[in-house]
Amino acid sequence: MIHTDKRSSWSILHALRYFERERTMTTLTIGLKELEHNTALVKQLAGDSCVYAVLKGNGYGLGLLEFADFLQNHSINHFAVTDLSDAVALRTHGICGEILMLTPLHLIDDLQTAIKNDITLCITSCKSGMAAETAALYSAHNQTTLQSSHPHQIKAHLCIDTGFGRFGFLPSEIPDIIEMVNNMHSITFTGIFSHLHNPSSKDSSSSEKQLQDFLHVCDELEKNDIQTGIRHISSTSALIRFPHMRLDAVRVGSAFLGRIAVKNNLDFIKIGRLSTTIEDIYELPSGHNIGYGHYFTTTKATKTAVVSVGYYHGLGMERNTNTKRYIPTIQNLAHTLKAYLRGGRTYAYGESARYPILGRISMNSCVIDITKKPLAIGDCVTFPICPLYVNSSIPRLYQ
Ligand SMILES: *Cc1c(COP(=O)(O)O)cnc(C)c1O
Repeated sequence: MIHTDKRSSWSILHALRYFERERTMTTLTIGLKELEHNTALVKQLAGDSCVYAVLKGNGYGLGLLEFADFLQNHSINHFAVTDLSDAVALRTHGICGEILMLTPLHLIDDLQTAIKNDITLCITSCKSGMAAETAALYSAHNQTTLQSSHPHQIKAHLCIDTGFGRFGFLPSEIPDIIEMVNNMHSITFTGIFSHLHNPSSKDSSSSEKQLQDFLHVCDELEKNDIQTGIRHISSTSALIRFPHMRLDAVRVGSAFLGRIAVKNNLDFIKIGRLSTTIEDIYELPSGHNIGYGHYFTTTKATKTAVVSVGYYHGLGMERNTNTKRYIPTIQNLAHTLKAYLRGGRTYAYGESARYPILGRISMNSCVIDITKKPLAIGDCVTFPICPLYVNSSIPRLYQ
């Protein structure tokens, strides 16, 4: 006969709950609907200009391959990367659109790898141009000796430094560009670009100056019978602020994430939630310290939950993009102090409530206050987070 003692049925029910529970798995959840919404906005803003999705930094933290698949499925067919290994990974994975390097390659081996994978090269100097030409000649030779069927056209974009001070020819080097291009016969220039250094500043004069210098270079090249192909200078901030700078193409990264450095009234949605489960639960007395240092002490009996995510996962690592000052002001200090007193400004979100983080975030854990609305071990909570800061070893879940 089955024992109907209340206590044992209670514990059997609990035991069942334990068995049913899945193992804790911390994931970076990427809202598909939200990402689709942002992608539609990007396309709408770009209008007739071609959209290059910038996929540096593990696809802005969205997962290089997963994000590229998403974009390809949403008819974005131009990609830009800063690492050759990313370009090759995309091709190997089956991405068939254009893949543009935003950085030069100098090693013949690397250039040949890029050529073999049909990657659009980036020519930033006469040196990088000559290296590319050499690799292209060599590849063409190998292809004929191997009797390869259709050697594809080797494409490149010219990079102009109008003020970023990183990659590219200076506007004063127009004669050098002309001479170089006239000496290159194995490469087709299909584009030319520059990068704005301060597109989010209130004062737009430096961006306007960069645009003028860039267009001047393009026009001078055209005058000298050099086809420049498509022209592009805008990334997210310029896409939003300066419609006249969209030209033939725009290079977009952060807009997809909905994390934008300039004020706007567009309804981009912030992408990225770190999802995890409650590891343990405690009732701490008043006057008890929580976390490293002396940043938080309970002022009343507090019900706490421990969550196994910390700064290793990217929690609390977001740089405050609104902070433009390098020297902290009194207001800044007061703000930081208040944040510390409150135990940080980050919250965990449960199904029906939000839970403040108490004390400093540790490497692999943090503590949240569940006094007001209890949670159980195994319950799921999420932390809004910029995907860029989430360790790339954490699985990305599109849902
Ligand atoms: C990162 C980057 C972009 C994209 O910038 P967002 O502001 O994230 O859109 C565009 N172009 C270049 C050269 C970049 O390095």
